[in-house]
Amino acid sequence: MKERLLDLLACPTCGGDILLAYASAYEDKEIMEGVLTCKKCTREYKIVRGVPRFADLGKVEEDKAATAGNFGWQWTNFTQEDLRYEDQLLGWLQPVKPGFFEGKFVLEGGCGKGRHTKLAAKWGAKDVVGIDLGDGVEPAFALTRDMPNVHIVQCDIFKLPLKRAFDYAFSVGVLHHTPNPKGAFLSLAGKVKKDGHVSAWVYGAENNEWITKYVNPVRNGFTSQISQPALYQLSKLPTLGLFLSTKLVYRPVNSVSRPIASKLFYNDYLNHLGTFGWREHHNIVFDHLVAPTAFYIPKAEFEQWWSEVNATEVEITWHNKNSWCGFGKV
Ligand SMILES: [Zn+2]
Repeated sequence: MKERLLDLLACPTCGGDILLAYASAYEDKEIMEGVLTCKKCTREYKIVRGVPRFADLGKVEEDKAATAGNFGWQWTNFTQEDLRYEDQLLGWLQPVKPGFFEGKFVLEGGCGKGRHTKLAAKWGAKDVVGIDLGDGVEPAFALTRDMPNVHIVQCDIFKLPLKRAFDYAFSVGVLHHTPNPKGAFLSLAGKVKKDGHVSAWVYGAENNEWITKYVNPVRNGFTSQISQPALYQLSKLPTLGLFLSTKLVYRPVNSVSRPIASKLFYNDYLNHLGTFGWREHHNIVFDHLVAPTAFYIPKAEFEQWWSEVNATEVEITWHNKNSWCGFGKV
């Protein structure tokens, strides 16, 4: 933890300022082990292996902990990096461009292993805070510790230990995996200063009826219950089917004839996915099978979230015909 993060922290229980009580181990400028304390209520929070810990997974509600635990395993086992992630992230954040990050205080709600947090920092954010509930914070910290403007915090998105001090908050692919997607969105937007901006990307209900009908029962009843290493192996089978169809059907047909391709099932998304390699395919299949909680959000409901935070200049985009991107001023 870098000491300058203290300026952005607030007690998740009472909102008081957070002080560094003591640090018992430093590495370079990172506080690796130590204790933080709330000036107002005197509660203490630990810094462990360089990451301030505001959530005790043993104490958060069971389903939230299960989601974070499952994704935590995934994020420590899928650590491939890919330049295409930049384009992918910009697709989810549209109409935001890299220059938008310049000089801003940025918050990422649900940073996983930190690949987007790192991009935000690379694109010139003054400071970027990536928060996550699960073990993803370990690889996220390792990935970003060399960057002076990145901070990784382990906490619950519903109880953010942060001041309302951010110019921009974004969350991609995370809100729909919480037990209350709208509540998580409101919590995140609540940390953005007046006239700041928010981006969110969520699974859409529209066009995903086949997932809610066929994939969800399998996930709820079976794949989110078995061990992660077992699912990792098992999920290679559906991944193989997906991989072969994007590579041998979707990519070739799209390069030959767009009109014919447009008649294929789920073409926009699967053609796009076909530009990625095996690991990304496997990652996505695993993602859909592992989460104990996944909501598919209808457009009308998503629009409602933005009106609840009185957002202006809202842009809602239908992404890959299976999800919603939102951007607005709050
Ligand atoms: Zn407090």
